[in-house]
Amino acid sequence: MKKYQGKGVYGAVAVGKISLFKKPDAAVKRIRVVDTGNEKMRLEQAKTLAIEQLQKIYDKALKEVGEANAAIFEIHQMMLDDDDYNDSIDNIIDSQSVNAEYAVAVTADNFAEMFSAMDDEYMKARAADVRDISNRLINNLSGSVSFDTDTNEKVIICASDLAPSETVALDKNKVLAFVTAHGSSNSHTAILARNMNIPAIIGAGDEFLNEIKDGMEAIVDGYTGEVFVAPDEVTKSKALEKQFADEEKKRLLQELKGKDNVTLDGKKINIYANIGGVENIGAVLLNDAGGIGLFRSEFLYLENSDYPTEEQQFTAYKKVLESMAGKKVIIRTLDIGADKQVDYFDLKKEENPALGYRAIRICLTRPDIFKTQLRALYRASSFGNLGIMFPMITSVSELEKILAICDEVKTELNEQGVEFSDKIELGIMIETPAAALISDKLAPMVDFFSVGTNDLTQYTLACDRQNPDIEQFVDTHHEAILRLIEMSAENAHKHGAWIGICGELGADTSLTETFLRMGIDELSVSPTFVLKVRSAVRSIDLSK
Ligand code: PEP
Ligand code: MG
Repeated sequence: MKKYQGKGVYGAVAVGKISLFKKPDAAVKRIRVVDTGNEKMRLEQAKTLAIEQLQKIYDKALKEVGEANAAIFEIHQMMLDDDDYNDSIDNIIDSQSVNAEYAVAVTADNFAEMFSAMDDEYMKARAADVRDISNRLINNLSGSVSFDTDTNEKVIICASDLAPSETVALDKNKVLAFVTAHGSSNSHTAILARNMNIPAIIGAGDEFLNEIKDGMEAIVDGYTGEVFVAPDEVTKSKALEKQFADEEKKRLLQELKGKDNVTLDGKKINIYANIGGVENIGAVLLNDAGGIGLFRSEFLYLENSDYPTEEQQFTAYKKVLESMAGKKVIIRTLDIGADKQVDYFDLKKEENPALGYRAIRICLTRPDIFKTQLRALYRASSFGNLGIMFPMITSVSELEKILAICDEVKTELNEQGVEFSDKIELGIMIETPAAALISDKLAPMVDFFSVGTNDLTQYTLACDRQNPDIEQFVDTHHEAILRLIEMSAENAHKHGAWIGICGELGADTSLTETFLRMGIDELSVSPTFVLKVRSAVRSIDLSK
């Protein structure tokens, strides 16, 4: 047995088999070969397998998300048969006497670059597709599939790190736990793990990654951050006991379903849930959340290989609103950039992406994308109780521009005779110190604030949320952060707006009383934390 120490990001225990997740492009090496005919034969086999895989994905997508969304997998199959693409790979194998993986990777780069340079937006977006099919081919060639999709056994995914787009692509029904060698606990991958309700550990280290192999048994303890590989019987039975106690705790929390979020002295608060997509609604309802306080709409973009259309977005938003049956649903507009990268946006590499071209900055400079999303949101508003909020606000003028664009969209919809609700609440995220400091000016312009403590922490403490090496400096309870929240709460209330917290700190029950005393009206947390926070609220007495 060997023990490795990382940082737990979701408290739960899992026992199961390891499955190594390899990034296909990271594995590509240039290898000189003698038998180029053999490389072409391997390539042919990998292609046949890729087409079969894509057919299966197409069939699944057709059932689950409809023909329009599934069509891309049909296009991918056709791209794999494209003569220019295949000739390029063959030529590289023949002319350089190299392995097929390398020839595919070089072809992918060349084609992606060619597509990106085109003027037509549709053709530009094909760059992501060519990378996608090439990664699939390389995966098949090197046998480094992310994990065995043919067995029904759930596995512990182990990776160097996982990008949010890789995390959303995993089949959630087959993941028992996550362990990454690198990564930070405030990253979106960690947030996704919390949403998925599975034990997760980050930063287990290079030694861990180098020593594990597919199929090894392991215990993942998301509470302590420990991973035991090839555990002995005593450790295993202790882990199973802990797992059982965990289930028991969760069962007890279930008794709080249907109860109010009310303190001992009668103060009520809303406890909502954060989601990344329609597929999380089950968990929201199961955990009895009073609404959705943050729908990270960018995951719709991350899951797609092209800009989601107005219709695709409308369908997703409508589904969430209808499923919540009149309960509040706050959808955040696109928050792409920094660690949430989407190939087809073609964003430049930046020195400081967290301080760069992201979120509302993209929306305000690419109003075509923003207006498509707003149109979908306004149209969907007729089907429930919608709130729209805008991320990464730093100034009054940004908010003025946003509100003007919202008015434009409403005028257009009115002219076209398209219905939308007149009760949509508009709000902003308070996730930059600038927004908190001018919250007195911003509050009169909106219906609500939602504090994004993940980014507010990174910007206030000057600590990159993606950098695992500075975690020791990330004091989430830092007085500066709490003062900014308190100041925002006072200003919100002074101007008749309400204020919630949707960052991860909202689920930190050691601060629940502090937040209630500040007058926070809503806490929006991962669905699995709703009942835990309810339990904390019900034990607080604010009269003391
Ligand atoms: C936040 O910054 O706290 C937040 C909720 O948004 P995200 O984590 O998606 O950046
Ligand atoms: Mg944020």
